[in-house]
Amino acid sequence: MTTTGAAVSDFYCNQVLSGRVDVERVVETERVLAYHHTNPAHPVHIVVVPKEHVPSLTDLGDAGPALLAEVLTVVQQVAAMVEAEHGACSVTTNLGLYQESKHMHWHLVHRGESRSEILAAYGHHDR
Ligand SMILES: [Zn+2]
Repeated sequence: MTTTGAAVSDFYCNQVLSGRVDVERVVETERVLAYHHTNPAHPVHIVVVPKEHVPSLTDLGDAGPALLAEVLTVVQQVAAMVEAEHGACSVTTNLGLYQESKHMHWHLVHRGESRSEILAAYGHHDR
């Protein structure tokens, strides 16, 4: 959090999109950026954000459905890359009190488990 009186925490506008923090880009379109998380919680941790301010999935602000579709297209593209390379991908966006930074962002994660560990945890839905 900043001490300069900003009402809302927005790491993406304040740090990433402003260029204050250098990021390793994965995919970039005119309106959407995917990059490797600057403080990753997992071995593969990519963040997808719209380049203009959008509060959240459930509060698109001034953005319309076309921007949401563009964001989700990049989420899909990057998730497919992670899935193809690592065999699994988790896609998350947080809302309300779960959402620390009030700029819509999607986490695309592979947690680094082996294939057998993943199957042990998730592979027994037929029982
Ligand atoms: Zn923002």
